[in-house]
Amino acid sequence: MTYSYDPANIFARIMRGEIPNKTVLETAHTLAFHDIHPQAPFHVLVIPKGAYVTFDDFARRASAEELVDFHRAAARVCDMAGEGGYRCITNAGMHGMQEVPHYHLHILGGRIMGRLVEQA
Ligand code: AMP
Repeated sequence: MTYSYDPANIFARIMRGEIPNKTVLETAHTLAFHDIHPQAPFHVLVIPKGAYVTFDDFARRASAEELVDFHRAAARVCDMAGEGGYRCITNAGMHGMQEVPHYHLHILGGRIMGRLVEQA
């Protein structure tokens, strides 16, 4: 897929300080904050600070430093989900039903998540 980044997306606005967020962790290249509509007792979004639209966009174009920073930060958020484990989800594009066009990893925990994918 090819992507063009929309700097008006809500997560870009959060990073510009235009919209408040409940930050749980911030590093040089990464921000993690609570999802505004949590789907589980623990539901945190991890985003790169750079302008990337989806997982594959980030994986393809980000620097090694950004990639390491993001994944190490995400691992720290996984620890916060507790000993019961967690689920990581990332949605992309229309079929993935992505709402916000800035790459984000959902990290969910605190309950049994059920099946991986439901029928549409
Ligand atoms: P996705 O469907 O994967 O693009 O998920 C977008 C997520 O962003 C949803 O789970 C929303 O609840 C969440 N979200 C939207 N606006 C905000 C916001 N201002 N602060 C925190 N989370 C948000």
